[in-house]
Amino acid sequence: MGVKRVEVVDVPEPRILNSQDVIIRVTSTAICGSDLHLYNGYVPTMEKGDILGHEFMGEVVVRGSGVKKVKVGDRVVVPFPIACGVCNSCQHQLYSLCENTNPNAWIAEKLWGHSPAGLFGYSHMLGGYAGGQAEFVRVPFADVGPIKVPDDLPDEKVLFLSDILPTGWMGAEMCNIKPGDIIAVWGAGPVGLLAMQSALLMGAERVIAIDRFPYRLRKAREHMGLECINYGETDVREALDVMTGGRGPDACIDAVGMEAHFPAPLGLYDKAKQAVRLETDRPSALRQAIMACRNGGIVSVIGVYGGLIDKFPMGSVMNRSLTIRSGQTHVHRYLKPLLDRIRKGELDPSFVISHRMRLDQAPEAFDLFLNKQDDCVKVVLSPNGRAAA
Ligand code: NAD
Ligand code: ZN
Ligand code: ZN
Repeated sequence: MGVKRVEVVDVPEPRILNSQDVIIRVTSTAICGSDLHLYNGYVPTMEKGDILGHEFMGEVVVRGSGVKKVKVGDRVVVPFPIACGVCNSCQHQLYSLCENTNPNAWIAEKLWGHSPAGLFGYSHMLGGYAGGQAEFVRVPFADVGPIKVPDDLPDEKVLFLSDILPTGWMGAEMCNIKPGDIIAVWGAGPVGLLAMQSALLMGAERVIAIDRFPYRLRKAREHMGLECINYGETDVREALDVMTGGRGPDACIDAVGMEAHFPAPLGLYDKAKQAVRLETDRPSALRQAIMACRNGGIVSVIGVYGGLIDKFPMGSVMNRSLTIRSGQTHVHRYLKPLLDRIRKGELDPSFVISHRMRLDQAPEAFDLFLNKQDDCVKVVLSPNGRAAA
């Protein structure tokens, strides 16, 4: 409804608009760090009354006439990017870059040159699609996105296939991890924690977690046995140099994004410039990740950025042969392999959940998650009045 204003209201139920649509009755949905960028007003083209939410799952209740792979009654998880499955990008498995699903591509083209895919609940610039923090949601291209999940896996184990599990996975995958590698991850939020877990599964020898909230670092230490740096207390560059024999981590993952917090004076500089719109994003974690990375290393950026940043250390990137890789996650690529791992018990992302609440508690949930109250890491909302299964 406005900056830092979320309300739960009755709206007309979604209807089938195209033959490839389905309507889903949502059973579980979550709030993401990406929602905070919308909530805090840093993503343009949000309008009063827009329905948020891009991490959701549920039951198919209505099926369009052209849908073949899913049927009414199926329990599905839906990827947050909307992809047609047949365009050039989709054929190359670059699903978050689908060329057919953003009807407002011209706005994104003005800002970014070319448009990526439309996303659920993520501004008009990215399609204006109603999101899944709702009882019902329309899902276009239903034969391409949703994946059926087995009944014996509870919502909490599979919900994060919609976004943060593949995102953490892709963040680690972009690091080209080899045996012996040391990976540093900025941000111990849900995305950072799942990137850490993925890096371990891919064979990293050491994974280092960086944040300033002790309760979030504790998850990294206690759940995964990781080394942690609290950047509120310790100089990150110095600590990383000591931990890596002066060389720097082989790859650095930015799981923080455009609203990084940073101690003065640089933190204040970014806050002030962002406030008067002289730069759109606060990139302090990204700058630090670049400077800390070893020569020839990889900086994997899964934190979301919106526009233009300042004091970007391009000299460090160029002279030290760094590679920067990034993207909104190509979720569809990872659905089946990650679901298989969940089934086999190799992966269980539910450890990031700290709060289970009802959909009508969304205003309170956004506030808890934004302000890191009550040791909040990840909130799952359930529209049916019960806490999520
Ligand atoms: P979150 O807000 O819960 O976590 C961010 C964490 O970063 C917080 O714990 C915060 O304390 C920490 N942090 C802030 N400044 C820091 C700094 N200077 N150094 C180290 N840590 C710092 O959010 P989340 O849900 O974990 O999401 C993280 C980012 O990932 C967001 O930008 C989100 O938009 C993005 N995201 C990207 C994709 C994608 O497709 N690439 C998908 C989902 C989320
Ligand atoms: Zn998300
Ligand atoms: Zn496509």
